[in-house]
Amino acid sequence: MKTILTILCLIIIAVIFLLLIAVIRTLFLKQKTSVYHGSDDMKLSLAYAKKLQKMVRVNTVSVSDHPDPEKFRKLHKVMEKLFPNVFKTCKKIDLDGNLIMHWKGKDRSLQPIVLTSHLDVVAAEGEWTYPPFSGTIIDDKIYGRGSFDVKCGVFSFYQALEELISEGYKPACDVYLASSCTEEVGGDGAPKIAEWFVKHKIRPFMLCDEGGAITEDPFVGVKGNFAAVGIFEKGYGDIKIIAKGNGGHSSTPGKNTPIARLAKFEAEIEKKSPFRVEFTPAVDALMETMAQYCSNFPLKVILHNLWLFRPILKKVMPAISSQAAAMLQTTMCFTMQKGSNGYNVIPQEAYVTANLRFIPFEGKEASLEIVRKIAAKYDLIVEEINCSDPSSSLDLNGPQYRMVKEAINKVFPGVEIIPYVVTGGTDSRFYDGKVDACVRFEPINTSKDQLSRMHGIDENIDINTLPLAVEYYKEIIRKQEERK
Ligand SMILES: [Zn+2]
Repeated sequence: MKTILTILCLIIIAVIFLLLIAVIRTLFLKQKTSVYHGSDDMKLSLAYAKKLQKMVRVNTVSVSDHPDPEKFRKLHKVMEKLFPNVFKTCKKIDLDGNLIMHWKGKDRSLQPIVLTSHLDVVAAEGEWTYPPFSGTIIDDKIYGRGSFDVKCGVFSFYQALEELISEGYKPACDVYLASSCTEEVGGDGAPKIAEWFVKHKIRPFMLCDEGGAITEDPFVGVKGNFAAVGIFEKGYGDIKIIAKGNGGHSSTPGKNTPIARLAKFEAEIEKKSPFRVEFTPAVDALMETMAQYCSNFPLKVILHNLWLFRPILKKVMPAISSQAAAMLQTTMCFTMQKGSNGYNVIPQEAYVTANLRFIPFEGKEASLEIVRKIAAKYDLIVEEINCSDPSSSLDLNGPQYRMVKEAINKVFPGVEIIPYVVTGGTDSRFYDGKVDACVRFEPINTSKDQLSRMHGIDENIDINTLPLAVEYYKEIIRKQEERK
């Protein structure tokens, strides 16, 4: 008994000692702030917003399986009027409504860069305060479907080129503007553009797409606006889990009917995620950066002392935050379910579908294998519908990330950069392996409310974020001179 007590005392002393070290380390950590300042030039902001308004007014909702290039050609025409220098100077390539503009650089031997954002938008359902395709400008904001996702991006890099061309600027390398019209429906637009580059033996040095943005309060206990640069995109998976049985009348049911087996399977996955949780170096770097900005002291202690708290965080974080879970592991979510067609009919076949997002350290095959094993316990069949592996990751020590960091520091002084895992899908995934590096970052500032309205009602952005977005793309183009 005495020995047990002694061991217990020693453990408690050791824990207190370690906690003390963690607290002292944190007390020495300087508290930082990350603040975004939009442009003060409201006249310029309004002029830009009026151009974006014209782009928003062209309804470019993409519909799965119904490509309509003409809808997008209407937008091309509007853009031709808004950016006359770009259309006069660059070579236009139209791939079924997907638009590529090619601006020749001084040194053709230098690998080109690609600035990309899609032209299509999602449908605008529900009751909007202002009509979704009006591009209403009010209270220094522009409202409309696509104002944030992502016609503001297309506007910004076209405007950057428009101004650079009018200044007589010649880029160091070739610059391509590439915009698909099927991003929102996962269509063949971006694959066609990516193939076009391959066919012409062009391997871009970097591709800048959407994926991250300047976002508000990105983490619990952390206030401020941070430039979240997407460094990789999780893999995507649609699967169908099928249960077969003998069917029959529901008045004499046996055990383990198809729906009951599916329910047990779903309950098992839901109760405890079967996927591995891991802190990648990128997540470690993110936590460490967040610690410097965290205003909640206990949380700050945890984030700044991962050496001590990582094992606990691994267990706790996925349970308390779905956002955190998505960054640390493969996720799986059940989306559709079907049994028989009658209240009193046991189905001969029932199914549930699920959407997965694969993390790189447990990719498509490894994750599906885990699902198959659990499904086998309940005599279920797993069918792959549409699955792809995660993208490769941006090298945080590479020249492309350095350029982006420097451009952000110059155009958005005072804004901290955080590497970010893109949990949704973007067009960039189709360029994987076809370009040297993909940077997923839209240089647009958004509040929490604005971010939540993407794909929702009353999508909007502040108009004074536009001049800085244009400046950011100019800076990215100018920085290519350093490669010579
Ligand atoms: Zn988008």
